[in-house]
Amino acid sequence: MALTGLQIQKLLPGTNCKECGSNTCLAFAMKLAAKKAAITECPYASDEAKHTLGLANEPPVKTIGLGPEKKLITGGETVLYRHDKTFVNRTIIAVNIDDDAGAQVIDAALAQVKVYALERVGETLTVEMIGLTQRGADASGFASLAGKAWQAAERPLILRGQDTKALSEAARAVAGSGSIVCAHGEEQLDELLPVARECGHAVALSAPDLDTLAALSARLRDGGMTDLLLGFETHSLAEQYQTNTIARRAAIKDNFKALGHPFLHFVTGADPFQTTAAAVTEVAKYGGVCVLPSFDPAQLSALLTLRQNIFTDPQKPIQVEPKLYTIGEPKPEAPVFVTTNFSLTFFIVSGEIENSGISAWLLVPECEGMSVLTAWAAGKFSAAIISKFMQEIDLESRITSRRIVIPGYVASISGELEDNLPGWKILVGPEEAADLEGFIKSFL
Ligand code: SF4
Repeated sequence: MALTGLQIQKLLPGTNCKECGSNTCLAFAMKLAAKKAAITECPYASDEAKHTLGLANEPPVKTIGLGPEKKLITGGETVLYRHDKTFVNRTIIAVNIDDDAGAQVIDAALAQVKVYALERVGETLTVEMIGLTQRGADASGFASLAGKAWQAAERPLILRGQDTKALSEAARAVAGSGSIVCAHGEEQLDELLPVARECGHAVALSAPDLDTLAALSARLRDGGMTDLLLGFETHSLAEQYQTNTIARRAAIKDNFKALGHPFLHFVTGADPFQTTAAAVTEVAKYGGVCVLPSFDPAQLSALLTLRQNIFTDPQKPIQVEPKLYTIGEPKPEAPVFVTTNFSLTFFIVSGEIENSGISAWLLVPECEGMSVLTAWAAGKFSAAIISKFMQEIDLESRITSRRIVIPGYVASISGELEDNLPGWKILVGPEEAADLEGFIKSFL
């Protein structure tokens, strides 16, 4: 739980020596509370103060790094609702493979996961992990499959099954991959925990009810094992939604550390609508890792799109890099279009120009990720900014067409732009990108 400035002040020496750069310990405490300073800036802070502040600054949901370099991050959340601030780390999407599915099916699934990529608003979205479920009786076969899956698809794994020996062997086979080992109940946990630790894997705990799960989690935390995920046993969509909400609320509102861990959920079933609904529930309601029952590009496309929207920081619009883009293979005499660097605007405008069949240049100045009208109203998309950006990238030496098309919504800047760009012809395009194709056919 975050500490107030007054609470922090009581942890400081109180000598007002000013060595931290603040006039008083209270002023420094206020900066710490506002996260504008670090406790290390006070050379006299006690170990107790550092420890207490360190704990207080931990997010209520533990951040866990997966993968060999621990760069695949889950957890770290601080709010219940995105609009309170932002969600921090996206639900990791995985695809399950059963060990008894047959070599052909398994090979095909591994290959599909490895190459799957969805391009959306400038991002490449992929399947980040593979769930491996042990159902067969061959423990060493399961370990070989784990090794093969890790090597073939280059994705960390989520290992689960009833045969603890098979899981241990598989965990060892992929040591260093930063995978997750699932342990159901206390008995399996006690056997798998040392192996997971030794091999650098996280552990996902599951238990028949929340109380048992919280008790197991608390026990592990007390023992120093905090790379934990929690798996809830639920039997309906409503229960899944409710359990996730109760657990996350307890972590964030009540600072209940035992439930302050990312959630792991294996989606089961064959009905694509039901499994999609279960996966959507995880993405929308706090899922840390969601394992889909099989590889289904249609399901993945919908889920990854939803996830991208939910996990976008509402205070930071998705942006593209400000620069001169090419559409098709434009020659120097091709026309220049200009728009803002708000991703959605950029992709709609560039798509419409591409659809028209011409090659062109698309000039995108820095507009802080705002759409055309918003940027214009905020003074971020003006004649001065466009002409200055043209100078910065030395557009004149690259383009001979001397024709630039501005969005119809900012027709009012055409006069000033003409003054700023002698020799250029300023064309006012349509207000809506959908009308660009007709405009291009009529005027270019
Ligand atoms: S350096 Fe430490 S003791 Fe000195 S004023 Fe700052 S907080 Fe207080």
